Amino acid sequence: MKLTLVNKKPEVANVESFLFKPEIDLTWQAGQFFRYHLEDLNPDTRKTNRYFTIASAPFEKLIMITTRFVPGDGSTFKKDLLNLKIGDSLEASGPSGDFVVEDPSEQSSSSNKNFIFIAGGIGITPFRSIILDLNHNQKPINIKLLYANRTPDFIFKSELESVQKKHPEFKIEYYVDPLRIDEKAIQLAINNYKQSLPFARAKRNLPMIYVSGPEPMVEAFGETLTKMGVAKNQIKQDFFPGYTAP
Ligand SMILES: Cc1cc2nc3c(=O)[nH]c(=O)nc-3n(C[C@H](O)[C@H](O)[C@H](O)COP(=O)(O)OP(=O)(O)OC[C@H]3O[C@@H](n4cnc5c(N)ncnc54)[C@H](O)[C@@H]3O)c2cc1C
Repeated sequence: MKLTLVNKKPEVANVESFLFKPEIDLTWQAGQFFRYHLEDLNPDTRKTNRYFTIASAPFEKLIMITTRFVPGDGSTFKKDLLNLKIGDSLEASGPSGDFVVEDPSEQSSSSNKNFIFIAGGIGITPFRSIILDLNHNQKPINIKLLYANRTPDFIFKSELESVQKKHPEFKIEYYVDPLRIDEKAIQLAINNYKQSLPFARAKRNLPMIYVSGPEPMVEAFGETLTKMGVAKNQIKQDFFPGYTAP
């Protein structure tokens, strides 16, 4: 499917969003991704295809890629993306992926309606889509977001905080290097959630834990959560290869 670039916007230093209009009417679930192809006659070893989360929410209609650029040292794919002009197009296929939340207001006894989201840097992209989607659909946002970044310029900070103003149940905790999201912080988030419920419900309705970010970070959290005794079916992971930990 052809996507045509209609806008670019800088987010924070070295992070930019690209907004594309799809050639057909299209829908996706917040948190899903596309595979993109950018023609290059002389690509580097990483070649001409990449996966990117659809950082926009479905109601926004445009497909948004938000990505980080390594000044002077990036791939040919990222250079080609950065050089795209308004009106240029690229090829995309999808949407794919199950890094999505079930409707938190649906009455299903098996559904988990509470979430802990762990984001490392650029890993915030699927969470932006999910959180803005819930807000747009006037659903509860029973989410605690633990958000780590190398620097204090958190991507989408003001958008997330404007959602938070309307949803006191939505909590954000920022971690700037050298502060790390550790086992203690996760355990505290789980305990706080459990304490807010009657004992029987707290036992059977643990929060789902979603982790998104650079591959080494997401793998490390997977191990930490398993060590903490969190069941595999309570964890969802979105791995971004090609980056080091935030
Ligand atoms: C499901 C999914 C969703 C994703 N969503 C996003 C998203 O929303 N946003 C996002 O930014 N990424 C996302 N990614 C990751 C994305 O696909 C890229 O892997 C990532 O952005 C790195 O891009 P790049 O390889 O072009 O390298 P760059 O970002 O250009 O560079 C990253 C690092 O690799 C080094 N490097 C660059 N080229 C080479 C090379 N040829 N050989 C060796 N080292 C090199 C650079 O020096 C730098 O240190 C997602 C991945 C998946 C699988």
